[in-house]
Amino acid sequence: MSDADCLFCKIVAEEVPAEVVHVTERTVAFRDINPQAPTHVLVVPRDHYPNAAALAAGDPVASAELVSAAAAIATAEGHEDYRLVFNTGAGVGQTVFHTHLHLLAGRSMTWPPG
Ligand code: 5GP
Ligand code: ZN
Repeated sequence: MSDADCLFCKIVAEEVPAEVVHVTERTVAFRDINPQAPTHVLVVPRDHYPNAAALAAGDPVASAELVSAAAAIATAEGHEDYRLVFNTGAGVGQTVFHTHLHLLAGRSMTWPPG
């Protein structure tokens, strides 16, 4: 399940380069090209789903694996505290419509987010 026009499908297929830091059966994780924290990694399902809710409905195992992968990466990079974000919809900042979990860590953060 991939979309020929999707940037993250192309990264999963290794047609577009990325700094991959972690892979599982259903997920690929790579560093964000414009990092907003010392650790800023995007964890994506190998299959194309447009957002987190569509992934949870269509492949709940992969949905859970995104979170497990993010936690493993945070631990591997020495972070006990971290933030996980799914932007859903252009109105809140989603720019790539292939589900991706942002893992942000390594600096203090405020709440609520902007
Ligand atoms: P969104 O705004 O959709 O939640 O997150 C998309 C993220 O993808 C952004 O943080 C952006 O910096 C990142 N991004 C966009 N294009 C690329 C790319 O070609 N490679 C990588 N590694 N990250 C990208
Ligand atoms: Zn895709």
